[in-house]
Amino acid sequence: MLALENAILEKGTVLPGGVLKVNSFLNHQIDTGLMIEIGKEFAHRFKDCGITKVITIESSGIAPSFFAAHELHAPLIFARKKKSLTLQDNLYTSSVYSFTKQETSEITVAKEFLHKDDTVLIIDDFLANGQAALGLIDVAKQAGATIAGIGIVIEKSFQPGREKLESAGYRVESLARIERLDNETVTFLQKDAIHS
Ligand code: 5GP
Repeated sequence: MLALENAILEKGTVLPGGVLKVNSFLNHQIDTGLMIEIGKEFAHRFKDCGITKVITIESSGIAPSFFAAHELHAPLIFARKKKSLTLQDNLYTSSVYSFTKQETSEITVAKEFLHKDDTVLIIDDFLANGQAALGLIDVAKQAGATIAGIGIVIEKSFQPGREKLESAGYRVESLARIERLDNETVTFLQKDAIHS
């Protein structure tokens, strides 16, 4: 998605350890116009899948998935990373190891919001090793829901996330695919190298 690639090139910063900082439009300050375009693109790619729920993880997954859910006429559920007083029982839970924070957190979704007759679209901001997406898949499977696919804003294709998800049989749609992050430079995967 060209507007997203341009935002990454113009506003992204490459940090050591293969981390891309995009705090100025996605992970801290939010470019609402770009998020609407991102949401529309996800909705377009999954429009024929009969999506009944969109699932993401708080907090950075919420902005890019909000408009996708709106366009697909489906509720958006964000898995919580911390237990709260209002979310104690009847929960689906899964452990997710965070690539950037280097810690494991327990994600939770209330059972009342996810059922076996749901068809879900999973959305996240980044795909690195696939842990967040696998955690959401685990939650959806516990509910017995059908998983239509995974929508990712920024995929770091040099890490194994996509391979893990595809080899488990899931469709992955990423709006920007990064081949390399080195020398403070972002290199996108060439379109002719993309087979999906
Ligand atoms: P995974 O679970 O696929 O290993 O990593 C995805 C999660 O880690 C995302 O939810 C995102 O929050 C975070 N993440 C992974 N790589 C990056 C990165 O390069 N930049 C930022 N900002 N977040 C990342």
